[in-house]
Amino acid sequence: MNPIPYGRQSISDRDIEKVIDVLKSDYLTQGPRIASFEKAFSQYVGSKYAIAVSNGTAALHLSTIAFGVKPGDKVITTPITFAASANCIRYCGGEVVFADIDPETYLLDLNHVRGLLEEAPRGTYSGVIPVDFTGRACDLEGFRDLAKEFDLWIIEDSCHAPGGWFMDLNGTKQLCGNSQYADLSIFSFHPVKHIAAGEGGMITTNDEELFNKILLLRTHGILKNDDRYLNTPDFACGEPGAKTYPGWYMEMQELGYNYRLTDFQAALGESQLERAQDGLIRRKEIAQNYFEAFQGKTFIKGQSGIIDGHAYHLYVIEVEDRLGLYNYLRSHSIYAQIHYIPCHLMPYYRQLGWKEGDLPNAENYYKHCLSLPMYPTLTNDEQDFVINRVIDFYTSN
Ligand SMILES: *Cc1c(COP(=O)(O)O)cnc(C)c1O
Repeated sequence: MNPIPYGRQSISDRDIEKVIDVLKSDYLTQGPRIASFEKAFSQYVGSKYAIAVSNGTAALHLSTIAFGVKPGDKVITTPITFAASANCIRYCGGEVVFADIDPETYLLDLNHVRGLLEEAPRGTYSGVIPVDFTGRACDLEGFRDLAKEFDLWIIEDSCHAPGGWFMDLNGTKQLCGNSQYADLSIFSFHPVKHIAAGEGGMITTNDEELFNKILLLRTHGILKNDDRYLNTPDFACGEPGAKTYPGWYMEMQELGYNYRLTDFQAALGESQLERAQDGLIRRKEIAQNYFEAFQGKTFIKGQSGIIDGHAYHLYVIEVEDRLGLYNYLRSHSIYAQIHYIPCHLMPYYRQLGWKEGDLPNAENYYKHCLSLPMYPTLTNDEQDFVINRVIDFYTSN
């Protein structure tokens, strides 16, 4: 048996051809593949706009800048996420306020968030960043109600959930990232995620103003648009009395970044996107297999059953002697992982005042969680091997 990681990309011959086509073309970056990938992605998730960026962290950073996060602003997020979901608030000097998770769904608990909002004077918090952790859609409709009531913006961190969805109270299927309830949603195309582009990210929205703002910030804050310049044509031409702007002219109007994706990454991302639906189906099958294999086994605690709309980026179980199981699986070349070490207890956030006991559900979850191998090319034989090793560990001694 080959080593079995918890997640991995799969690259097809067609993916390779698509990348090679770009390498032979005139554009390595800022070419036509970007717009094409953006269009295909916005169609996939059902949003009006999509902006491709260099990675998911850049997507988060541009989003917090777009909302003008600044020192003194407080933003709420979950501790059970990749650090970038919180760090993007710090990049802008804002204060991260972690709220606890729901121990059943592992998602940011709406009621805890409500509690924080109700306790504080109005206007204390500026936004919230819920995460579709493991691929399970959070209750964005509920978060939208809170956002309306407390005047917050919402960034949905949907890195785990392209293709995921939930049913809203009207019975309408809401795809993660469709921006019906969130202001902005962000995705990552790191190889362990559903769609690999090497590195890469995407921001989706239905808000034209945010869209234009983020577009500008993605490329240094520089725009090229005769109708929107702030300097005069005289200055731009270097000639008195000029009425129109010269061909070379462009303007830096805001402090932006270089957070562009390259064209060959976009080509890979778009090619992968074409297979994303098949990947989701396979992920769900794998989840179903785990669920059935472990059903009724008392050593497994956290199995929520198969959930419609779950994108199954991860399959998490909660167990006793998690360390023992982790090491036992490793001795069989099965590389299960932990998602995540609670963010608030990372030394960086401890130094900002967070401590053990602050978020008991997240901390208790961390003691027991283990993410089992989950990726579309995991074979049934490999999965059976994983399942049998887990069962062996708890039953053979
Ligand atoms: C991967 C990930 C990110 C960051 O994406 P990168 O592309 O690696 O920068 C942010 N949030 C979550 C939940 C992630 O899983």
